[in-house]
Amino acid sequence: MSEATFSMEWPESWGDRPVPALDLKAQYETIRDEVEPLVLRIMRDQAFVMGPEVSGLEAEMASYCQAPFGVGCASGSDALLIPLMAWEIGPGDEVITTPYSFFATAGAIWRTGAKPVFVDIDPVSFNINPDLIEAAITDRTRVLLPVHLYGQTADMEPIRRLAAQHGMPVLEDSAQAIGAEYRGLRSGNLGEVAAFSFYPSKNLGGFGDGGMITTHDEQLAKRMARIRMHGMEPRYYHHEVGFNSRLDALQAAVLRVKLRHLDNWSNGRREVAQRYHELFAKHLHDDVLALPFELEDRHHVFNQFVVRVRDGNRDALKESLGRQKIGSEIYYPVPLHMQKCFATLGHGPGDFPIAETAALETLALPMYPELGAEAQEHVVRSIARFFREQRSARAA
Ligand SMILES: *Cc1c(COP(=O)(O)O)cnc(C)c1O
Repeated sequence: MSEATFSMEWPESWGDRPVPALDLKAQYETIRDEVEPLVLRIMRDQAFVMGPEVSGLEAEMASYCQAPFGVGCASGSDALLIPLMAWEIGPGDEVITTPYSFFATAGAIWRTGAKPVFVDIDPVSFNINPDLIEAAITDRTRVLLPVHLYGQTADMEPIRRLAAQHGMPVLEDSAQAIGAEYRGLRSGNLGEVAAFSFYPSKNLGGFGDGGMITTHDEQLAKRMARIRMHGMEPRYYHHEVGFNSRLDALQAAVLRVKLRHLDNWSNGRREVAQRYHELFAKHLHDDVLALPFELEDRHHVFNQFVVRVRDGNRDALKESLGRQKIGSEIYYPVPLHMQKCFATLGHGPGDFPIAETAALETLALPMYPELGAEAQEHVVRSIARFFREQRSARAA
């Protein structure tokens, strides 16, 4: 069936087939022939941890991210923790970050013994608001840790300027933003160190957990490489207490194949985002949804397509989509300063109002390069129908 006939026959032709929030199987089909022989080879070689696949990936990731050094590790969470350990961040220190991110961002700071100091976000980009950072800097502040949320970088120029003024490094949490750019520079090249995650739902996802750190600082790279191996160099001689955060050969082999497709996939995500804009313009004549867009000096890689539901109906919309087997997710329902485990920081409602409102209003719609136009139209028309029904219920 041609695409044109297919879409003309909608809605009957789409029927009630599900649209998942993420479809990893669709992507796997496109690389299966490249990946499966490699996995077999690793099983036959029985060389599983670190090794040439990992050093190959480190070099290729570094080059992709415009940074000279790459250090593979076991997860994105470790990729945040290891540089903080290498800078000897600990009790009494403060690290400035956003309250609106995945938990690992603040968790890494906490695990060093340092205090996460939150700075509220910008309501449009959902990234840390650089105008509010200066007021949060004290003589204990050691690192600025911006997150490039959903695939778009934070506003790095003022962040870097502040860090330089105070003699601090910038650690980019780029778990969601591999390949994202700010004023022509790639993430990985926007601070002293960047942390990447290969968790399967990220734009470059492995077959399990994995992470990568990139940096310009050779000494720091060496130290971080040592920390992820129990501070050991050479074998069985320990300079400091690190931990085990090695990367598997199998993950590295898969990721090296996938890295070669990454720009294609990122372009696919950008097309899906563009199509959402066109479809919503066609079907939803209402400003009840705020769509994400690419800021002028950025290159957005759309790890997520997160809309803001302005009328208080975010949860009802999510439920309604769920009944139609359309996947959606809330990233994130509880801002970090409101997490129970951080109660001793003494925060309460109202401390970071923009993040708190975002937690009530954001919803991630299906986003992956293989998402077809028909499925997308089905998603958008379902959302438009939901808001029509809301309006007529209110009118009645
Ligand atoms: C996924 C993620 C992490 C952690 O990565 P893991 O590989 O899951 O440990 C850190 N920060 C952000 C913003 C993330 O999205």
